[in-house]
Amino acid sequence: MAAIKSSIPVRHFDAIIIGAGGSGMRASLQLAEAGLSVAVLSKVFPTRSHTVAAQGGIGASLGNMAEDNWYWHMFDTIKGSDYLGDQDAIEFMCREAPRVVYELEHFGMPFDRNADGTIYQRPFGGHTANFGEKPVQRACAAADRTGHAMLHTLYQRNVRAHTHFFVEWMAIDLMRDHDGDVIGVVALEMETGEVMILQAKTTLLATGGAGRIWAASTNAFINTGDGMGMAARAGLPLEDMEFWQFHPTGVAGAGVLITEGVRGEGGILVNSEGERFMERYAPTLKDLAPRDFVSRSMDQEIKEGRGVGPHKDHVLLDLRHIGAETIQKRLPSILEIARKFANVDATREPIPVVPTIHYQMGGIPTNIHGQVVAPRNGNPNSVVNGLYAVGECACVSVHGANRLGTNSLLDLLVFGRAAGNHIVRSNLTRREHIPLPADAADRALERLARLESSTGSERVQDVANDIRSTMQRYCGVFRTDELLQTGVKKIMELDERRKHVSFKDKSRVFNTARIEALELDNMIETAKATIVAAAARKESRGAHAHRDYEQRDDENWLKHSLYFSEDNHLEYKPVVTQPLTVETFKPKPRTF
Ligand SMILES: Cc1cc2nc3c(=O)[nH]c(=O)nc-3n(C[C@H](O)[C@H](O)[C@H](O)COP(=O)(O)OP(=O)(O)OC[C@H]3O[C@@H](n4cnc5c(N)ncnc54)[C@H](O)[C@@H]3O)c2cc1C
Repeated sequence: MAAIKSSIPVRHFDAIIIGAGGSGMRASLQLAEAGLSVAVLSKVFPTRSHTVAAQGGIGASLGNMAEDNWYWHMFDTIKGSDYLGDQDAIEFMCREAPRVVYELEHFGMPFDRNADGTIYQRPFGGHTANFGEKPVQRACAAADRTGHAMLHTLYQRNVRAHTHFFVEWMAIDLMRDHDGDVIGVVALEMETGEVMILQAKTTLLATGGAGRIWAASTNAFINTGDGMGMAARAGLPLEDMEFWQFHPTGVAGAGVLITEGVRGEGGILVNSEGERFMERYAPTLKDLAPRDFVSRSMDQEIKEGRGVGPHKDHVLLDLRHIGAETIQKRLPSILEIARKFANVDATREPIPVVPTIHYQMGGIPTNIHGQVVAPRNGNPNSVVNGLYAVGECACVSVHGANRLGTNSLLDLLVFGRAAGNHIVRSNLTRREHIPLPADAADRALERLARLESSTGSERVQDVANDIRSTMQRYCGVFRTDELLQTGVKKIMELDERRKHVSFKDKSRVFNTARIEALELDNMIETAKATIVAAAARKESRGAHAHRDYEQRDDENWLKHSLYFSEDNHLEYKPVVTQPLTVETFKPKPRTF
């Protein structure tokens, strides 16, 4: 091992950002513009990060098309989160929203426009006026390609600010010194197979979600939970991982997303009897109720035999009445997706849709500055020096048990910017790099060495596929004790099998087998955290719908879960119910 170590090149930066999605590039922009040396690593070219696929919009109470204000947005987000979101962080996010959207506009983001030149906004699930009275137009959109426009805008600004990109580099593991401070990362250049140590005064994880631990997912193939894996192996907890959002409208059989913006523009869900069934479940918001609510209603229709298709296993999304002209103008990508993946012309036929895994509400615990926090000496929120996390891999927590659509792109901008500002204020350029401890890279090198020498009989793809089918079957829209306990057992068996994977081709140049084996370690950490935390939570809240405990139980379960990989145990910490400046929103039953 010592020989490998001395030959590894070391580079130094003030800050390293792992991930070039919206959150990573919003943070890097703040740092590069302040004159720090900043490196951004990404497994893919920056503008191919999953943020590029976001369709519907960014939530901000600009009030361009109907009266709106941040306080209503805050209320909706807290209620949407089923009261598990931290109210201080939610207040912060909703207040900052207009500012970060206008900033993006000034960066050159090509938003759609109203006749008076203001940013076009559409209604979205769970976003209301006057505390739930009626839907409000809050989603700032660039047709149905909002993420695409946003990611390209941020990339171009970063190029201008001289951010240093390491494209097709995979971070393998964090380095911590003997005080537990994070001092950088060990990474692999995918093209050459070369390993490098990137030492930094600050490291920020922006690695996105892990939707690929499920069989049916709207997520990109790269979303394998690498940030969660790195944090878990470094001894850090993962928060609220039992809460995963099923998006109501994935194309049945294909998983590709049909944005909620379709329902925002007037699309409706219908069952095999042609009934607009959401009117029964959510009389006020109907098809624009929050996602957990709509997904459960769809599942219920299918279970009661009113599904569509030969297997009665999906429902239909009908947008014909919106009119071909509006569809072409506001939802051009949806037309294309419906044609390519469902073989329907959405201006003439409804689209077959089914709830599909979409987003993780949980992640690496942070405070509102993006600093990673973990329990220490009785304080559940003690700061881990040198480490930040933002975006989908982080849990601030603004989404609680269920995220409202458009609040993720907002979360990326608000907390990417806030973390960037906090890092700038910590005066990194005035500090020296600490001498690198001799064992700093050991965790990463041991993992690589294990893979190189493994002669095990397990194939990476077999274990990965079994993780996906296990999560899909035992941790779905509706959960039970029996399903979850069987699921935990199966995931633990897969964790054992994962230790015996090997691959034949050991070549260095662009060896995707090695990359996939490394990703598998991250997938299993995310899957364990999810299913162990889900099996322990004996209530129904937000996206965690438990058949054996159908009610929300605020007395016992209004708390965040913290999963530790090391000995597979759970701890809990209180939800922040006190906002920054306004009064607490007290938990109430959720009806829409
Ligand atoms: C189809 C789809 C549509 C959506 N639509 C909307 C919407 O309209 N509105 C909304 O608010 N939200 C939407 N969301 C959710 C939102 O887009 C995502 O939550 C968000 O974009 C995630 O951004 P991120 O910056 O956290 O990560 P990502 O954009 O996923 O980027 C992750 C980055 O990390 C890098 N990375 C990962 N692991 C490593 C590693 N080991 N080493 C180096 N780099 C690594 C990747 O290369 C990538 O650059 C949508 C999501 C999907 C899937």
